[in-house]
Amino acid sequence: MANYVKDRLMHYVVNPLVEESRKGGSRHPSSASVKYQNSHGEVVTAGKCLRQQYYRATDAPAEARTDFGLTMKARAGDVWSDYFAERIKEAGFWIGDEVRFYNEQLNLSGRVDAIVREEGTGNKVGVEFKTVGMFTKKGKIKHSVSDPLAPGEDHVMQCMLYLYHWIPRGIDKSSLVYICRDSFEIGEHIVRLEVGEDGFHYPVISNDMGVIEWKHLRLEDIISRWQELELALDKKEVPERDYELQYSNEKIQALYDTGRLNKTNKAKVDRFLKKNDITSDTPAIEGFGDWQCRFCEFLIHCNKPEVKADDVATDQFEAL
Ligand code: SF4
Repeated sequence: MANYVKDRLMHYVVNPLVEESRKGGSRHPSSASVKYQNSHGEVVTAGKCLRQQYYRATDAPAEARTDFGLTMKARAGDVWSDYFAERIKEAGFWIGDEVRFYNEQLNLSGRVDAIVREEGTGNKVGVEFKTVGMFTKKGKIKHSVSDPLAPGEDHVMQCMLYLYHWIPRGIDKSSLVYICRDSFEIGEHIVRLEVGEDGFHYPVISNDMGVIEWKHLRLEDIISRWQELELALDKKEVPERDYELQYSNEKIQALYDTGRLNKTNKAKVDRFLKKNDITSDTPAIEGFGDWQCRFCEFLIHCNKPEVKADDVATDQFEAL
């Protein structure tokens, strides 16, 4: 059946005529990342993959991995952010919205969704709106035993960078507001930036469950990672992968043994264990990996097989 709007609209949403461009060469809060050792003794990455940023900076072949649904989810964030900024204006505690800034010391460009007036003191507070779905809202909006109330590490790093710029300009708190686009529940976390005895900056987060200090996310480590990327670009050396498309069986076993798998994935491993032993020789249990790789536009490029001289069949040389 012919349609007048649907097909053209869906195509345009994914392929807009004008796309937002960013100031080249500078760093952005949304590209922040750190590596740290978690409570299980594993070195993990929080935030953006350095290798992905390297590929983007070097114009490596990218494959569009956005479809209409994913694009609309991303756009929902902008729509709700605009909507709430308007309501804040009506309610009378608005100071500014879509406030762009550039920090020369860090070569950092960013944008704060809104700046509001704190009740009672009149102090300025930065606001960052984030939309989540029924699955990704876990722990961000409501507390549960399996998902304690806490914001996303990547979002907290963004707030830390805003605060580093804005503290000397009179804003020392950043409010991270989560909105569930399916249930319309709202959650809020207040982020402050503290300096430890070691001189490193780390975030302190307050929410309905109390106050938590995240000393594993240090501002200085975020900056070191950007420096690492800049060095890699200078030397033309592709950084190591920060994420994995498919976990090894050892890693899956470790997640299983320490109760870090959700119900569905635990059941999957249980079914596998009924028929097999997990050893390093057993083929990896499929479907366990990092979402960062699944949605990465450089996935194919990152995982392309590297051809070594020994891999080339002798008959190819004989044909020369
Ligand atoms: S596929 Fe994964 S490891 Fe490779 S660049 Fe993308 S996110 Fe990084």
